[in-house]
Amino acid sequence: MPVYVVLLGPPGAGKGTQAGIVAKATGLVHISSGDLFREHIKNQTDLGKQVDAILKRGDLVPDDVTIAMIRERLTQPDCANGAILDGFPRTPAQAEALNGMLAEFGGKVDVVPYIQVEQAELIDRLSGRWVCRAHGHVYNATSNPPKTAGVCDLDGSELYQRDDDKRETVEKRIRVYFEQTAPLIEHYRGEGRLVDINGAQEIAQVTEDLLKALPEQAK
Ligand code: ADP
Ligand code: AMP
Repeated sequence: MPVYVVLLGPPGAGKGTQAGIVAKATGLVHISSGDLFREHIKNQTDLGKQVDAILKRGDLVPDDVTIAMIRERLTQPDCANGAILDGFPRTPAQAEALNGMLAEFGGKVDVVPYIQVEQAELIDRLSGRWVCRAHGHVYNATSNPPKTAGVCDLDGSELYQRDDDKRETVEKRIRVYFEQTAPLIEHYRGEGRLVDINGAQEIAQVTEDLLKALPEQAK
């Protein structure tokens, strides 16, 4: 049976960082809705053109568009054993659509680690975030610097700062998170799937806590 992990947490909590590490450790596929949108924007696809301004503003892409993109990704053969979802679902309607999809694939949302970090730290982290052009590997100027400034350790590609990591947009994205995504915390807690993770710890300690939270068949 496939295993599906939903990483919840505000922008800057460390979802992408942890999903990358946990994917390598478990063999589960890391699916980041934000990375998928940025890939469409880079390739100037119709979807990319449709969502570019929305990402720049820090708003959410409409549910139907986002759900269709994730459904398409989850049906690809590399997801046969499951996936770690990072950035999806972000609204109650997306969470409901996800349940329907996973039931079709013979699975369910197995566990929802909720990575908590306080707001001042989120703003600090995002203002120092650098991302690689080739694969979206994530660094931080102070807490997780690359070996050579401006260059990805893993694939040698250039590092850049995201348009939406500007201070005003970061504040907007955190607001959007509290208004539209935070209700999912209590929803999943009520279903008994939520596991609280202290995201203010060192990256390696957060990974250790996350690995403990995964179902046995993913380890
Ligand atoms: P998210 O995907 O939740 O938006 P990221 O994984 O992109 O978050 O992390 C945001 C920033 O914080 C990045 O610059 C990353 O290097 C840094 N970061 C991630 N985890 C930690 C941590 N535990 N401690 C300090 N900095 C971290
Ligand atoms: P992220 O990389 O997760 O920080 O997402 C970057 C941006 O992509 C968000 O600010 C939204 O504009 C968009 N986005 C990513 N995931 C979703 C989602 N599940 N629903 C709607 N918009 C999303």
